[in-house]
Order: sequence, then C-alpha cells, then structure tokens
Amino acid sequence: MRVAVFSTKPYDREFLDAAARGTKHDLRYYETRLTADTAPLAKGCDAVCIFVNDEADAAALGVLAAEGVKLVACRCAGFNQVDIDEAHKLGLTVVRVPAYSPHAVAEHTVGLLLALNRHIPRAYNRVRDGNFQLDGLMGFDLFNKTVGVVGTGKIGALAAKILHGFGCRILAFDSYINPDCTAIGVDYVGLDELLAQSDVVTLHCPLTPETNKLINEKTLAKMKPGAMLINTSRGDVIDTRAVIDALKSRRLGYLALDVYEEEEHYFFEDFSGRVIEDDVLARLMTFPNVLITGHQAFLTREAIGNIASTVIDSLTNFEEGRPLPNKVEKS
Ligand code: NAD
Repeated sequence: MRVAVFSTKPYDREFLDAAARGTKHDLRYYETRLTADTAPLAKGCDAVCIFVNDEADAAALGVLAAEGVKLVACRCAGFNQVDIDEAHKLGLTVVRVPAYSPHAVAEHTVGLLLALNRHIPRAYNRVRDGNFQLDGLMGFDLFNKTVGVVGTGKIGALAAKILHGFGCRILAFDSYINPDCTAIGVDYVGLDELLAQSDVVTLHCPLTPETNKLINEKTLAKMKPGAMLINTSRGDVIDTRAVIDALKSRRLGYLALDVYEEEEHYFFEDFSGRVIEDDVLARLMTFPNVLITGHQAFLTREAIGNIASTVIDSLTNFEEGRPLPNKVEKS
C-alpha cells in the first residue's frame, strides 16, 4: 500500500521502516504537516499517516479523498485533529493507536512534577556554572500531599498509581470510574472539590467540546492557592492566558506543560535561532515556576515501536479487508 507519511522525524522513519520490513507497503515520508495546502502530496497514495499537529480538517480531507486516499492512519491516541464526521461523509476510514505506552506519558508527567517541585532544571544550570548555592531551590514533600487526576483512563490511572506509591492521597474526576483506581483507594469527587483540595492537579482527559478550556479563569479560581497544574493531555484543555494571569497573581504556584494551545506553530521544530512571535508562549517561558517540554511525553523507544507496529498492522489489515480493531467510529 502506498502511504504518505506527514510530519515525519528521523525516529518515525527508523521505527516505521523497521515495522514495515517484510511487507509491501511503500512509505513516502514528508517532513511537512498535513494541511489543505500540503494534502496534494498524497496524490496516488492509498493512505496517509498523520500525527498530533496535522490538520485533517474538512478542506484537507476533501483534497485527500479527491486524490484517491481511502485511509487516514493517526500515529497517536488522540484524533481531535481529524474531522471525523467529514471523513466518514467522504468514505475515508480513520484508525488510531489507542494505547502505545500509557507508561511513557504517565512517567513523563511525574518527571515534570518532580523536576518542577525540586527545581531540577535550575539546579542543573546552577551547578554547571559552578554555583552550588541552594537558595531558591526549596521544594515540598510529595508524601501526604493531595493529587487531583482529571481523567482516569489508561494514562491517568497509571499516573494515579505511581503517585499513590509516593504516599499521595489521590482524588479523581471522571464520569467513568476506573476499578484500577478504586482498588488503590482513589476517591472520585466532583471537579470543584478536586480543584479545591488538590496540591497538584494533573490533566489526562482527551480534548473534546466539554474539556476545551476546562481550566479557565473560573476553574483556576477554585484551585487551592499555590497549587501545581500539570498538562500532558492537549493544549486546548487549558486557557493559557487565564493561566498566565493566575501565575502573575501567585494564585497558581507552578505550571508544567507538555502541550500548548498553539503548539502546532512551534513544537517539534528548532526555533533556537529565530524570534518567537507568540507572546503567550514567550511570556510562559519567562516564569521561574513554569516548566515546558515540547510534546515529548510519548517519546520512549517502547512507545514509538508500538506506534509503528500498530500503524503497519492497520495498513495491512485495511489492504487485506480484515477487521480494523483501532478504527475510529462515527462521533
Ligand atoms: P483514555 O481514553 O484511556 O482516557 C481518557 C479518560 O478521560 C477516560 O476515562 C474518559 O472517561 C475521561 N474523560 C473524558 N472526558 C472527560 C471530562 N470532561 N472530564 C474528566 N474526564 C474525562 O485516554 P488516555 O490514553 O489515558 O489518554 C488521555 C489523553 O492524553 C489523550 O486523549 C491525549 O490527548 C493525551 N496524550 C498525550 C500524549 C503526550 O505525548 N503528551 C500522548 C498520548 C496521549
């Protein structure tokens, strides 16, 4: 099957090529993102393979369908970048990788929490500069602190389990009660109660119309003063301007982000020699109590290997007319 693979990085090629060995799939790699403008690159392809910041909106899907594409294979769990209704109207099948390594994301979340709380990036830079002073590096014990987990699916449940291991009390907000969480004593509460009681709030819900800007001026005002907010889910779950105001007023004590509302313009690219024109992102980067990683929570060898093999299996199943267990059904 001929496949146009958009937004590819060297590690995507390495792992996809390895997974495709022994198959007849013809993978054509493009560094560019999928948009309506770049969609013609898929001319003559049966499928496209896309990532989190590609834009499979109605315009792009229309071009893909006209070029003969039949399958959109997301090499990620979330599929908010695809207009699912439009895809189905155009007769395009959409598949995703529902679980490649929830451990990768849960572990990165805890990494962010520890790095921010214990000022590890600051300490690293200080020591590299020969400065061994400790002023400004004081953190807090995680033991006996309350952590609020919003969304206790695969990733949220693992984050809860790891933090439970630190001796934290875990509160959760999700309409689906995960028995793996209740088994370790996680208490499900309403969102307001979770925000009011948690020293750390970590977001693991998908981006949907209900979760869009779930963290906003009103919900930030309900958080415990000085609490930490961590977002490794999707950038739009947070209203970033409201978060900046909460940081400036000291209401929010710490912020860790792996995702950002406007990340498609910056993340996965090298801007070290260029001007960042996004004033919101630039402002965020100035706070000493903000830690940002560029959507790397998924980036482990295990996760990338699982993503590649799941995508290749979906291509093969589609080509051979077999059932597609990872198909995204109509919304
Ligand atoms: P999942 O589907 O297993 O779990 C999501 C959970 O969120 C479900 O239990 C669902 O009931 C809950 N939920 C839905 N709407 C909610 C709401 N309004 N309030 C509270 N909970 C709600 O998904 P997952 O595999 O755990 O992934 C979670 C999210 O993490 C993905 O949707 C994706 O956006 C993000 N993610 C990020 C990275 C990264 O690299 N940063 C990698 C993978 C996934």
